[in-house]
Amino acid sequence: MRILLTNDDGIRGAGLRLLAAWARTLGEVLIVAPKEEQSACSQSIVLRRPFEVAKSDLFADLGIDAYRVDATPADCVRFAMDILGPFDLVFSGINRGFNIGFDIAYSGTCAAATEANYAGVPAVAFSTDLETPDAAAAALPAVWRYFEKNRLLSRGLLFNVNIPAAPKDILLTKQGGVFYRDHFLPCGEGMYRANLYRAVREEALPDLDTDTGAVLAGYCSVTPLTVNRTDLSIMQS
Ligand code: MN
Repeated sequence: MRILLTNDDGIRGAGLRLLAAWARTLGEVLIVAPKEEQSACSQSIVLRRPFEVAKSDLFADLGIDAYRVDATPADCVRFAMDILGPFDLVFSGINRGFNIGFDIAYSGTCAAATEANYAGVPAVAFSTDLETPDAAAAALPAVWRYFEKNRLLSRGLLFNVNIPAAPKDILLTKQGGVFYRDHFLPCGEGMYRANLYRAVREEALPDLDTDTGAVLAGYCSVTPLTVNRTDLSIMQS
């Protein structure tokens, strides 16, 4: 099995290295990741300038070839599929920060996995909290056993996985709603800064059926996602 790895925290992200160290136990791994952090860039792509792709020896100690790309996570996947493929599977992450609820839309981590789906390749996005990528990585074998036991990758093509430190269990969940909101704070001379705050508290989230509820309650959340956004309920009503 040939696995492409990318992320949106940049090729030096701690979570990518942890993901790579585990993924190489599953098959042949190639890393194609952004040169700089690209968090919250969603599925944007670079169209109006050429971008550099350079070999990186950052993962030589793990026996893994890597390229750093001066572009976005979606570009990494698009480039890799065209020039370095084919791949059987794409992993994105492990992102520094959960990607749950509506924040999936902003996530470069999830967008890279979506981009893989556009190319017909199954993909999994992995995220964890800000401070404990090691604890999330320690749960990867258990998460993978859950995927295999439930034959998830033969039933779907796109999965969003959020792993809190020391998860209680693994739950199959639906995408939740708003998790973060912004206050826009003036900082002088007509400038404003987005100040992210968490709109949802644990006590307001008894619903373990959603990614947000499950993660805030300490569970690992596995959410099957769709790429095509057609509202079938309208078509069928
Ligand atoms: Mn990120």
